[in-house]
Amino acid sequence: MPMPERLLIEGVRSRVLRGRTGRRVRVGIGDDCAVLRLPKGHEALVTTDFSLEGVHFRRDWHGPEVVGHRCLTRGLSDIAAMGGDPVAAFLSLALPAKLPQKWVDGFAEGLLDLANEFDVPLAGGDTAQSPGGILADIVVMGSVPTGKAVLRAGAKAGDWIYVTGILGGSAAAIEALRRGKRVSRKDYPEHFHPMPRIAVGRLLRERGLASAMIDVSDGLSTDLGHICEESGVGAEIEAGAIPLARKATLGNALHGGDDYELLFASRGRVPAQIQGVAVTRIGRVVRGRKMTLLRGGRRFELKAKGWQHFG
Ligand SMILES: [Mg+2]
Repeated sequence: MPMPERLLIEGVRSRVLRGRTGRRVRVGIGDDCAVLRLPKGHEALVTTDFSLEGVHFRRDWHGPEVVGHRCLTRGLSDIAAMGGDPVAAFLSLALPAKLPQKWVDGFAEGLLDLANEFDVPLAGGDTAQSPGGILADIVVMGSVPTGKAVLRAGAKAGDWIYVTGILGGSAAAIEALRRGKRVSRKDYPEHFHPMPRIAVGRLLRERGLASAMIDVSDGLSTDLGHICEESGVGAEIEAGAIPLARKATLGNALHGGDDYELLFASRGRVPAQIQGVAVTRIGRVVRGRKMTLLRGGRRFELKAKGWQHFG
């Protein structure tokens, strides 16, 4: 049985307070609201993401630390995609009555380890009993210099299209899990331990290198579709240029989700590596609204075919 709500909050609170305190959080957990300080001349970024049992994770596939880590990664990755810096995170958790306390502890550990790594204090949240599975909603607040957030709109015909890291690893892991394979975290680090690209996003924003940006959470084809739609442009992607994760197929990379890499358009000179993360040119922005895949000298229409829920 999980601890009663008060004890759970105390447990999380003491763990958070043992971690690094945030210079941006004047009042954190324990009052009606958190009180945050934004750097001078900055705007607030706010993002919210669900992690639902049976939809975003399965308890028999994902350990609690992995679920906690991935839960916060979803939020931090959105801040990265705007070129922002995370300020504070807020967590609302609904837990089934029969959930072992060990699971809750593991979840908190995975989430807070990543929070400490990025110096993002958990500054508030809520807990409740869930009538069904585990529900976690993460809210991350970030900041960005006023007017400088990198939006999905802004790509222009002639820009090159880049992606960080490697793609498809998460979809490949899910396929292997579905086939009943034993899947180790070492084989699929992109799935079990994805890292939000905060430093890369920030640098691209500082250097004015990204005309439009998004994080790859629903799959390359879907997320590129969002950039095209918001920017009013089309795109041509070179299939052979897409950096594939180990064991990932082109389909995994194009249509799988949960990669948490950055996809951006640029007309500047982009280094091949930023903060230790590979940056690969995979195509270009074109006029019109169509997305095209170039493969083996042939052209295919690329349709947004994002990720499928685990079901
Ligand atoms: Mg996003």
